Amino acid sequence: TIDLTRAESLIRTIPDYPEPGVLFRDITPLLADAAALRSCIDAIIEPFAGEFDVVAGIEARGFLLAGAVAIAAEVGLVPIRKAGKLPRPAASVSYALEYGEATIEAHDDIAEGTRVLLVDDVLATGGTLQAAHDLMATLGGVVVGTSVLMELDALGGREVVGDVHTLFHA
Ligand code: IMP
Repeated sequence: TIDLTRAESLIRTIPDYPEPGVLFRDITPLLADAAALRSCIDAIIEPFAGEFDVVAGIEARGFLLAGAVAIAAEVGLVPIRKAGKLPRPAASVSYALEYGEATIEAHDDIAEGTRVLLVDDVLATGGTLQAAHDLMATLGGVVVGTSVLMELDALGGREVVGDVHTLFHA
């Protein structure tokens, strides 16, 4: 098994960011450490090795993980973007945030049946990953796994998204 002790020690908790009362988990010290980053990328891939054709990362911090996963697993990468950033025809899924709504998009040229590993940095309420799941399914992709670095257990995202592979819990 992969030793993630060092990586976990490098996640910082920032009080009152981006708003008062929020505890923000900052993964940038982990990303900046070669051994910690490598261990996390290997651990994200491990349960799904050989089972996915592309990795889909969610803008923006999901991109940082997806790029590394793609090279390590020798698969391609699909960016899931915030609305209005993609130049060609794209599918959209909107979802509710605590205040307001968000929309994510992906180009509509994924081959039917493509096996997708979804990755993001943090699972909070689950709205983002659920929307990403729906988006890939709309496009004909088959989501074979979902992986996050950190799951915020108290926010109940797992009840929304279902089975998620999580490296760290908070
Ligand atoms: P959810 O849709 O409520 O599950 O929120 C997940 C999304 O918000 C992910 O794309 C995360 O990048 C971001 N997010 C939520 N909380 C945090 C945090 O504490 N640190 C970093 N990103 C967060």
